[in-house]
Amino acid sequence: MSWIDVRSDTVTHPTPAMRAVMQAAEVGDDVYGDDPTTAELERASAERLGKEAALFVPSGTFGNQLALFTHCQQGDEVIAGEDSHIVWHEVGAAAVIAGVNLRPIPAPKGVLSPEAIKARIRPSGDIHLPRTALICVENAYSSGHVVSLDDMRAVWETAQDAGLPVHLDGARVFNAAAHLQVPAREIAQYADSAMFCLSKGLAAPIGSMLVGSRDFIEIARKKRKLMGGGLRQVGVLAAPGLLALNEMSARLVDDHLNAQTLARLVAEIPGVVVDQQALDINMVFLRFNRAVDGNALVEAMAEQGVKANPPDQGLMRLVTHWQVGAEQVQKVAAALRSALEQQQ
Ligand SMILES: *Cc1c(COP(=O)(O)O)cnc(C)c1O
Repeated sequence: MSWIDVRSDTVTHPTPAMRAVMQAAEVGDDVYGDDPTTAELERASAERLGKEAALFVPSGTFGNQLALFTHCQQGDEVIAGEDSHIVWHEVGAAAVIAGVNLRPIPAPKGVLSPEAIKARIRPSGDIHLPRTALICVENAYSSGHVVSLDDMRAVWETAQDAGLPVHLDGARVFNAAAHLQVPAREIAQYADSAMFCLSKGLAAPIGSMLVGSRDFIEIARKKRKLMGGGLRQVGVLAAPGLLALNEMSARLVDDHLNAQTLARLVAEIPGVVVDQQALDINMVFLRFNRAVDGNALVEAMAEQGVKANPPDQGLMRLVTHWQVGAEQVQKVAAALRSALEQQQ
C-alpha cells in the first residue's frame, strides 16, 4: 500500500532527483576535509544563512547540542523557551554533553519576551550563581507558529545588551522564511549560530547544518569529532542536501498552502476544532469537541491508508510535505471524517 503519511515532515523520502545525485556524488574523506560535495554544501548553507561557515551534522538534535557544547562551559546556564525542542525533545542531552543547565522560560507562540529573558539572566559577581552563557530561540516553533522578525530582533538586542550569544534552533527556518516571505538569512541575522534540518520538509534522507562564525565552526568541527560525528564519504548525503537547500526550500510554500486547505477541509468535519492561530507553516493542529478514542481513530485512518499520530493531550497534529499534496489532503480529510463517524 502506498501510505499517505501526515505524522511529520521527518517521514519524507528522498526525491527521485536526490536518489540520482546520491548515486553520482563526488566523495572524499570529510574528516580529512577531502569531500568536495560536503564542502560545497557547507559553503552554500553558510551563504544562505548569512554566516561565515557551516558544518554538516547527522541530526538536528546533534546540531543543537553541538551549539550548546561550543558556546558554553560546563555548569553554565542556557535560557530557552519552556516548550522548545531543546527543552522537551532532546533527551536532556544538554546536561549530558555540554554539561549545562537549561533555564526554561515562558515562550507563548515561541516568543521570548525581553522582560522574561532579563529576569533570568544571572548577575555576575555572586559566588552562588551559575553563569548565563546562551539564549536559545526556535523559529519556526514546533507549535506551528512563526516568530516575527521584530520579536527575533528584540531577543537579539536583549542578548547584545547582556553580552550573550544567541543560538537559533531553525530546524524549520526555511518554513519560517517562506511564511515571512524573507530570505532565511534575515531570520538568522538575529543569532550567532543556527541549526537547520535538511531532513524534514526539505526531504533529504539524513542531515542538518550548523552555521556560525568561522571561529565558532572551527571549534564545533573538533567537538563534532568528539561526539562521534566526524563522517567520512558523507558526500552521498551532502548531494541530496544540496538539492534540499537549493530546490526543495523554494517549494515549502506549497506545503503551507496544502496545510491551509487541509485545515479548511477538516474544520468542516463535525466535532473537529482547528487551531486557526497555528497555521503558519506545514502543520494543522486540531482538537475534538467530544470524547474521542485517539488510538482507535488513528487505526481507522490507517485502514484507509493514512498514517497519523494520535492526539497528544487532546491535540492532534497533521503535517503536509512533498508527498502530501493537494490530492492527498482530500484523502486525509476524508479518512479523518470517516474515522470519527465510526466513533459515533
Ligand atoms: C526536529 C527538530 C529538531 C531535531 O531534529 P532531529 O533531526 O530530529 O534530531 C530540533 N528542533 C526542532 C524545532 C525540531 O523540530
